[in-house]
Amino acid sequence: MPVNTSRISGFHKLSRLERLAKIADLTGLSKEEKAAFSAASAPLGETADHLCENVIGTMNIPFGIATNLIIDGEDVLVPMATEESSVIAAVCNGARQCRDTGGIFTSKDENCMIGQIQISGLENPFAARAALFENISEIKTICDECDTLLVQLGGGFRDLEVRVLDTNPPIVVAHIIVDCRDAMGANTVNTMVEKLADKVEQWTGGKVELRILSNLADRRLVRARATFPASTIGGAKTRDAIIRAGRFAVADPYRATTHNKGIMNGISAVVLASGNDTRAVEAGAHAYAARSGQYSALTRWEKDNEGNLTGTLELPMPIGIVGGATRVHPSAQMAMKIMNISSADRLASIIAAVGLVQNFSALKALATEGIQRGHMSLHANNVALAAGAVGAEIEILAIKMVEAKNVRVEFAEQILVEMRNG
Ligand code: NAD
Repeated sequence: MPVNTSRISGFHKLSRLERLAKIADLTGLSKEEKAAFSAASAPLGETADHLCENVIGTMNIPFGIATNLIIDGEDVLVPMATEESSVIAAVCNGARQCRDTGGIFTSKDENCMIGQIQISGLENPFAARAALFENISEIKTICDECDTLLVQLGGGFRDLEVRVLDTNPPIVVAHIIVDCRDAMGANTVNTMVEKLADKVEQWTGGKVELRILSNLADRRLVRARATFPASTIGGAKTRDAIIRAGRFAVADPYRATTHNKGIMNGISAVVLASGNDTRAVEAGAHAYAARSGQYSALTRWEKDNEGNLTGTLELPMPIGIVGGATRVHPSAQMAMKIMNISSADRLASIIAAVGLVQNFSALKALATEGIQRGHMSLHANNVALAAGAVGAEIEILAIKMVEAKNVRVEFAEQILVEMRNG
């Protein structure tokens, strides 16, 4: 039912269960609905309260395992958290088809993030730019003093960039480049840029406005590469169809958006399972895909001298294994354990490898039989559930819908009634 008001004074001061009771009251949730939600939310318990605000429960997302992956010579089982059917199956399937050529190979930049400082009110932006460079060693000292642990771990301030934006009046933007080692680094970098503000005003004579991390983490790129033998993937015809599909995505933003969404199906699922920030990775990926001025594909598909299909993926990967929810959420800890992760570099490589293989499977299906057959048979289980099927009914109903080539809830409800009436 619609609520009378969304103004709930002191809501944040209530306990999680009190908040849930209040919401149930205001929105007319039944006792049973409230109990079911409470039971589903129970496992994360108190931890949820510390991850975000105004918590009344949790939302459970399936946590599955992608098999068959060899990444940089090591077999690895990869946890993926996703509500979408076909995503994990596509990774397992694609990873199998590049095992004979050694799996997926990766490379990475240093773990550098960019912090931005916006400086306005300047008649002489180029002189301000020069003044900032004159003070680079003090900038380094101020940044490094903000996080001495990071410096001990080999990270910290690395470089300064200063751009003059062609606006009227001009904006000077200082970038600090910080190696965040095994952290994603948002909080670390934000602390540094805020700390620098007073000195930057003093040195430039301008006014410091925004001080914040940039999610276009193009100093933290990861690359993945894999070779798929033509004989394994269905022959030269399939290989060439995949290459043409890849070129379509490179040239056309409408196609590239869906192409990259498919890549992110795999990437975001591993990022989420590991307790990392899916929005940070997604924002960086899409901005990187548009770096030429036209939004384009994140992967490239080619043919090598032996006639094998080769695929490559490159994108920013701002993730960590400390900080955020990575060390707090029990499922994230479980994910790290399953992947045997001890560095952010290895996690970044795994995430990129999954994205590449996901794209291979999607392109192969699209360029040959289309995705609906494979997708629909998995999606049919969801539709069967939505129609009210339980237990063994789910699979039987899903098969009936796929056979009838009609995977829709109304149709499922109709068959379910027939099934139940014998
Ligand atoms: P954090 O604030 O917990 O900082 C990590 C700290 O851990 C570092 O300061 C470092 O001193 C310490 N540390 C311990 N061991 C380390 C190791 N081996 N390597 C590196 N550091 C080590 O976490 P963070 O990574 O700075 O921030 C990440 C969080 O910030 C994410 O949850 C993200 O959602 C959030 N966030 C994102 C944005 C954005 O993307 N724009 C903005 C604000 C906050």
